[in-house]
Amino acid sequence: MPRKFVVGGNWKMNGDKNMINEIINNMKKGPLDKEVEVIIGVPSIYLTYVKSIVPDTIQVAAQNCWKVPKGAFTGEISPAMLKDIGVNWVIIGHSERRTIFHEDDTLVAEKVAHALESGMKVIACIGETLEEREAGKTEEVVFRQTQALVPAIGDKWANVVLAYEPVWAIGTGKTASPQQAQDVHASLRNWLANNVSAQVADAVRIQYGGSVTAANAVELASCADIDGFLVGGASLKPEFVNIVNATK
Ligand code: PEP
Repeated sequence: MPRKFVVGGNWKMNGDKNMINEIINNMKKGPLDKEVEVIIGVPSIYLTYVKSIVPDTIQVAAQNCWKVPKGAFTGEISPAMLKDIGVNWVIIGHSERRTIFHEDDTLVAEKVAHALESGMKVIACIGETLEEREAGKTEEVVFRQTQALVPAIGDKWANVVLAYEPVWAIGTGKTASPQQAQDVHASLRNWLANNVSAQVADAVRIQYGGSVTAANAVELASCADIDGFLVGGASLKPEFVNIVNATK
């Protein structure tokens, strides 16, 4: 079965109601390729508002969640709360969470496990720093990060999208070349075949993220193992429509 192209937008901590209206109106005008799954990652405070104005064809994700359903965790939100407001996707393990908020592989895995057990779908992010790439450790790092997710995901791979996001390419304007991205995606798929199953390796969608724009999306999208994008800065701009349509 061919893998359905999946494009996520990660708004990060950006936007207000005016800007959100503009972004959503632009996406509604599109037109967005109907063959592509589109998921926008919205600041938690605007999730309900965005849910109330988007068409069903655009799915909505939280950018984070905690690892238990409820309790004394000031400032956190749980998958149960997200599901309660109709949000079925969550981005977990973004490099900004890992770096700025010190989320390690273990915590990321616990969050992934709980989100999946709660019936949510997860975009799980992995990726190496520039230092790690320059030290020739890209594969070691992304395999380690993925290994940590394997027991957390269990048999729920159908509800997971992996996002390979080299940290040096996020928000920097430096995109991985299509060859660099394709090489890591192919290695990951090979690792999954050897460490999970051939079926998972074949079916799981691996997004590329890191300074994707309308100008580089078409070439990146043509790579055999790139099944979509996770888009930060450009997801706030009208060009997001072109990125969604990159395989057309
Ligand atoms: C991201 O936030 O996941 C991302 C890839 O950001 P940008 O597209 O701005 O590099």
